[in-house]
Amino acid sequence: MKSSETEPFNPSAWQEQTVALRAGVEKTDQMENSEALFLNSSFSFESAEHAAATFAGDQPGNVYSRFTNPTVQAFERRLAAMESAEACVATASGMAAITALCMGLLKQGDHILASKELFGSVPSLFDKVFSKFGIETSYVEVANLEQWQAGIRPETKMLFLESPSNPLGVLGDIPEISKIAKAANALLVVDNCFCTPILQKPLELGADLVVHSATKYLDGQGRCIGGAVCGSQDLIDEVFNIVRTCGPSMSPFNAWVFLKGLETLPLRMPYICNQALELARWLEQQPQIETVNFPGLESHPHHQLAKKQQKYFGGVVSFEVKGGREAAFRFINNVQLMSLTANLGDVRTTVTHPSTTTHGRLTEEARQQAGIHQGLVRIAVGLEALEDLQADIAKGLSAV
Ligand SMILES: *Cc1c(COP(=O)(O)O)cnc(C)c1O
Repeated sequence: MKSSETEPFNPSAWQEQTVALRAGVEKTDQMENSEALFLNSSFSFESAEHAAATFAGDQPGNVYSRFTNPTVQAFERRLAAMESAEACVATASGMAAITALCMGLLKQGDHILASKELFGSVPSLFDKVFSKFGIETSYVEVANLEQWQAGIRPETKMLFLESPSNPLGVLGDIPEISKIAKAANALLVVDNCFCTPILQKPLELGADLVVHSATKYLDGQGRCIGGAVCGSQDLIDEVFNIVRTCGPSMSPFNAWVFLKGLETLPLRMPYICNQALELARWLEQQPQIETVNFPGLESHPHHQLAKKQQKYFGGVVSFEVKGGREAAFRFINNVQLMSLTANLGDVRTTVTHPSTTTHGRLTEEARQQAGIHQGLVRIAVGLEALEDLQADIAKGLSAV
C-alpha cells in the first residue's frame, strides 16, 4: 500500500460515531470508499535496496503479515482511537491478547494480582501456563479495595481485572484500583470486553492497558475470533514484539470483519444496553424469579458505581429461577427464540447456564462462594424486539 500523503489519522476532533466509521483508514490509489481487504501474506519491494531498508526498519512498509498488514493496522488505529489509546496491537483471539501482553511485560519472578471474577480461561492461563515460567498469580474480589491493597507484594508487576464481571455484573472501581497499582509501580490491565469503549474507556479512568476479545461485541455478529491490546506506544511496542515473534497475529480477513463491526458499535451498544435494562426490570417482576443481577437496577450493590464509571449498564443480565438446576434447565429447554450458547456480544440473544458451562470447571464450593448458583441463568441481550424476547422468556418461565 502506498501510504497516503493526505492526513492519515486525526480523529481527535471527531465524535464517537464518526471515529467508529472513519478513523484509521488510509486509502490506496484505487480510492476505495470502504476499507480494502489486504488478504496478503507478504509484500514485495521495488529493489534490493528497498527490501534491505524495509527489513532494517529504516523505511516504513510492510514485509510480512505476521508483523504488519494494512487491514490489521486500520483496525488497530480505529480501536486505539475509540479507546483513547496511543497505540493498539491486534491478536488472533482475546486469549492471545492476554498471553502476548503478559509475555511482553512480565518476566520470571513477577507476580500478577488479579480479580477472582475473570473469564474462565484467564485463570487457567495464569495458573497452569504462566506458573510454569515462574510468574505467580493471586486473586482478590474485584469490588474489594482492601483486598487489592493487601494483595500487593514487592514483586507485583500487574493488576488485572474485568469490570463488570460475568455473569453477576460485579464492578471494580477502576480509578481507585489504579491508584493502588500506581503506588505499587505496577501496571493496571482492564479487560474491557463486556463494556467496549462505548460504555467505558479504562485508560481515561487510570488503567495502563486495555485488552479486548474482539470476538464479542466488537464483531457483534458472531463471525470471527480476535483480540487486541491498547495502551501507550511504549507498552504496546513490547506486546507487538511478542506478536511478531511468536505469531498470534490477527488474520487480515478477521480485521476487515472487525472494522465492519466497529462501524456500528456506537449504535448497537446503547440499543443493546437499553433492551437489557428494560428486560432486567421486567424480569424483577416475574414470580418464578428469585433475584436479577444487573448493575442498571437500583437493587444492584454497584448501581451507583456503574452510573459513575460506565456510560450504559451493559448487555448481560443474569437471574436466578426458583427451584435450582432442574428449574434452570427446564427454563433453558423451553425457550425457542434465544440461542443456547455460551458466546455473547452477538446481535442474536444468547442464553446459558453458567454453573454447568462457563463456570463448570470450578468446584461447587468455589461456585457457591462466587455466587454462581445452580438456578442461575445468563442472558446476553441482542437486537431482537423486546416483546419477542419477553414472550420467549415467559414461555421458558411457564415451564419452571
Ligand atoms: C471471550 C472472552 C475472552 C477471551 O476471548 P477469546 O476471543 O475467546 O480468546 C476474554 N475475556 C472476556 C471477558 C471474554 O468474554
